[in-house]
Amino acid sequence: MSFDLSSFLDAVPDAVVERIRGARRVLAVGHENPDADTLGATLGVVAIVESQGGRADAVCTDPVPALYGFMPGVERFRTDPTTDVDYDLLVVSDCGTLDRIGAVRDRHADLFERLPRVVIDHHASNSAAGTTDWIDPGAAATCEMVTLLAARLGVPFEGERGRALADALMAGIVMDTATFAHPNATPRTLAVAATLVQAGAALSDISRRLYRSKPEAQLRLFGRVLDRLESADDGRVIWSTLLDADLAATGTTPAHSEGIIDLLAQADDAEVAILFKEAGRATRISVRTKPGGVDATVLTGRFGGGGHARAAGATVELPVETACPAVLAEAGRLAGEVSRVAVREGGREVGRGASG
Ligand code: 5GP
Ligand code: MN
Repeated sequence: MSFDLSSFLDAVPDAVVERIRGARRVLAVGHENPDADTLGATLGVVAIVESQGGRADAVCTDPVPALYGFMPGVERFRTDPTTDVDYDLLVVSDCGTLDRIGAVRDRHADLFERLPRVVIDHHASNSAAGTTDWIDPGAAATCEMVTLLAARLGVPFEGERGRALADALMAGIVMDTATFAHPNATPRTLAVAATLVQAGAALSDISRRLYRSKPEAQLRLFGRVLDRLESADDGRVIWSTLLDADLAATGTTPAHSEGIIDLLAQADDAEVAILFKEAGRATRISVRTKPGGVDATVLTGRFGGGGHARAAGATVELPVETACPAVLAEAGRLAGEVSRVAVREGGREVGRGASG
């Protein structure tokens, strides 16, 4: 038995299908500071190209963090394209802008400029509009889109290869939905996931690895950052900082910060949760917001970043001490515009919803 995705396959643009079908030597890239969605989508593209008889290289400008080492095929990632290869197509996955590809794009500027390009992405802030740019903000993960592309091209989700592909794609969906807990998970997301589980994807194991298991050092890092928690505007804005000294004290790397912002975002009354991460002379910010409230891309957009309405990020070109007050002022202003009314059921207050 296999699940039927046919009713969803019209979403895949014909131009993208034809480009990928016709490619012989593909450069598949994801974004800097990779996560499971960009890695899984890039590996998915590689598998799809190879199923059509082509060859593909997986490239990410940063080394793959150990957290994602369980994803089948991650050992194929290189930080640079191979110089003596005659690539005929660039496929960019999960990048809201081409800048997100990172330094590898500058290191090989001619190549990235010259190659015909397919963009596969689900960020609402993505403004790419070429005929082979496929942007679907309705997709919970880029891996959801790549699964549909695979189905459209008849890639068999069978045997060991099918299971490896299913695991890689499932990891991206689990990552970007927090295991189907975020409101971005739609019936289509679940139908795609059902197909992947059918093909052998280890859903429960992937979810545990991505969300419920951590090295002890990482828990200590979380402890330091949570201990420094601050709030403003009657708790409507909550934030903390992650300094290089925290990494040094706990023996962790920047990748270990994954998950802290989602803990901050659990604060009941916070419309906006922000984590400030020291990054040399600049500051990385991660932002999470409540449904019906502040659009996170509006806040990060003021600082040159982007992302999704509920989860977004930016690199602010200021040190933490100056980035903090600038971002907090803007966050406080945006949070102040949100008005909530009590949501009642049978006279009992069951929550608070957006009004107006
Ligand atoms: P996170 O806070 O988990 O790093 O990122 C949340 C979301 O915002 C992700 O979907 C990510 O792709 C996006 N994002 C994070 N940083 C940036 C950035 O600097 N620029 C843009 N355009 N998007 C970002
Ligand atoms: Mn994504």
